[in-house]
Amino acid sequence: MNSNKKTCKMQVKKNRTSPLESPIRYIKGVGPARAKLFSSLDIHSIKDLFYYIPRRYEDRSSLKKISELAVGSTETVRATVLTKSMRASKKGKGIFQLVVGDQSGVIQVTWFNQPYMKDYFKEGQEVIFYGKIEMYFGRPQIVSPDYEILAADSTEDATVHTGRIVPIYPLTQELRQRYIRTIAKRAIDQYCHAVCDFLPASVKEKHRLMPLSEAIEQMHFPRSSEGQAEAQRRLVFDEFFLLQLGIAIKKSQVEQDTGGIQHTCDGPLYSCFRSTLPFTLTGDQQRAIDDITHDLVSPQRMNRLLQGDVGSGKTVVAACAMTVAIQGGYQVACMAPTEILAEQHYFTLRELFEDLGIRICLMTSATLEKDREFLYEKARTGKADIIIGTHALIQEGVEFRNLGLVIIDEQHKFGVMQRAQLQEKGLHPDVLIMTATPIPRTLALTVYGDLNISTLRELPPGRGSIVTRWFKEDEHRRVYELVEAQLREKRQAYIVYPLVEESEKLDVKAATAMYEVLKNEVLADFVVGLLHGRMSSDEKEYVMRAFKQGEIDVLVSTVVIEVGIDIPNATVIVIENAHRFGLSQLHQLRGRVGRGTATSYCFLISDDTSDVATARLQVMTETTDGFKIAEEDLRLRGPGEFFGVRQHGLPELRIANIIRDAPLLERAREEAFELIHRDRLLQAKEHGPLREELLKRFQGVRTDLVRVS
Ligand code: ADP
Ligand code: MG
Repeated sequence: MNSNKKTCKMQVKKNRTSPLESPIRYIKGVGPARAKLFSSLDIHSIKDLFYYIPRRYEDRSSLKKISELAVGSTETVRATVLTKSMRASKKGKGIFQLVVGDQSGVIQVTWFNQPYMKDYFKEGQEVIFYGKIEMYFGRPQIVSPDYEILAADSTEDATVHTGRIVPIYPLTQELRQRYIRTIAKRAIDQYCHAVCDFLPASVKEKHRLMPLSEAIEQMHFPRSSEGQAEAQRRLVFDEFFLLQLGIAIKKSQVEQDTGGIQHTCDGPLYSCFRSTLPFTLTGDQQRAIDDITHDLVSPQRMNRLLQGDVGSGKTVVAACAMTVAIQGGYQVACMAPTEILAEQHYFTLRELFEDLGIRICLMTSATLEKDREFLYEKARTGKADIIIGTHALIQEGVEFRNLGLVIIDEQHKFGVMQRAQLQEKGLHPDVLIMTATPIPRTLALTVYGDLNISTLRELPPGRGSIVTRWFKEDEHRRVYELVEAQLREKRQAYIVYPLVEESEKLDVKAATAMYEVLKNEVLADFVVGLLHGRMSSDEKEYVMRAFKQGEIDVLVSTVVIEVGIDIPNATVIVIENAHRFGLSQLHQLRGRVGRGTATSYCFLISDDTSDVATARLQVMTETTDGFKIAEEDLRLRGPGEFFGVRQHGLPELRIANIIRDAPLLERAREEAFELIHRDRLLQAKEHGPLREELLKRFQGVRTDLVRVS
């Protein structure tokens, strides 16, 4: 019985394991110590090594004659060792020199402090050297070149380190280029034929992609730069394709799941709310509301992202969704990333819903213990219709009687986990995510690929334009004059000091110090207020209210005003040390003005003339289109940084780059969705290898992504 079981297990294992899964130790030259170093690079199997992609390449393919070598350039030369010598040096371990020659001449090759080199070379050997040609006492020489000793019977093809396009790997100190290269070559020569090409033939044909084994080979040891480019195209396609398959499967699962709540739209609360709106909705708002109500009434769960630039009017769209849920007797949870924003939502919604008898409460970490119990009670018994809060909402102890809709604002500030946690508090609640950081299309397809997206591009009518200018530190006087001009017209101003990353304290200090100067000297004729993150929420609220009511003319603040604050009479914002902010953040800050009909001003102050800062500040002065800015931000910062942290759901892409490879992403997505449309769980026999690969890739990484079977 026992032994029976054992055989059974072994068989399973045998079936599953391809030679590529073999440990890296299987390759000649990799002992336990080196295997350990490999594993620190996350290379455990031969396959891992195949996907350890060179960082760049060096073209060492064009061999030069010695007489053609140019001083100062890096060259490849093939020569015979004529003599070798070892000299002592004053410091260090001595100098080792070769004199090598070909038909056109001779040249010296020198290594400092590497006495062991003398054991590597013999007179009469044919060697290819690759290195920089330098002048030394009037004679050219090559110092510490890369080299490849040609075996007596070697052909050009067999060279690994020279005489070809050579891979340069991302390094660790202990594993040297030559070594990794040698091992990679051995692994490829020995195992590449065993690579299972999982892409369906039709897909390969349609997109003219090379076979996988060839792609791996040419990615490491390209025969030409075109070959390398094609290899890369194939591997990038694979990465996108697998990711999009995962997303397509997840999306189709959500669509199949008909256990969601079927809300009804034709109730009194919703119509009443719609008819009392003080303005006409923009076309985009109307379309977004149509999308959302369509999702809400359907038996499938809503999983929608509402993106719209600052001031595009997302709140009213969300409010429509809320009234639909509430009129059916459901509760709504609304989560915002900061206390200020949660508070702001609370006040806005209370005003919006004033006459509708909707019960709203606010729950943040500032909520007092005794009030908290009371709030929990309200949520649990259904005495609150809307609960607004920060991440305090997802804490244990918070229960809802009948949660039917979850709204998450500024989602990119929350982790994917937090999103899931809040969702779990209801039975299949519908989910609406809102973001004011427009998401570049490529990111939307990857990070939010499983969500449906509604976009508010158009701003409500009658908004004044915003003029943005960049000033240097020594132009402060001019800036204050311009601010004063606005204040004289009874407008209001923001002056923002950036968050010093390491220390909120320093930040508060800077803002506080400037506040004193502005209040007592520069803007002494006006009322200046101060707002920063260290104030209590009562104090903050007091200041915000005073600013809103026009009792304060100038609000000096740290970045706490970044999101959501809506004061149409504020027409000027000064951003100090503007280079410290990311592009999206600058855009958010600028969104505090331009909310009324008058022309507004945004003054960026910075002395930083580095390329990145200049690029950023210039983009700001050139456009106010949030989508353009987001694209630019993504380009400048790269996808990893765009959302700050990896956990925000950006899948790991090792070879593909969503900026560089955007067109391929689109094609891979289309192909993947089409395939899943035809074969939802990849059950067709010809999709077997693809399915295997998909399961392997997502194992442990995004286990929630794929549950194929
Ligand atoms: P967002 O949250 O997208 O940044 P808000 O929802 O705060 O924007 O809306 C910004 C301002 O525009 C609010 O004062 C809101 O009342 C107003 N608003 C929204 N939609 C319209 C509309 N269709 N017409 C006029 N004003 C609108
Ligand atoms: Mg908003």
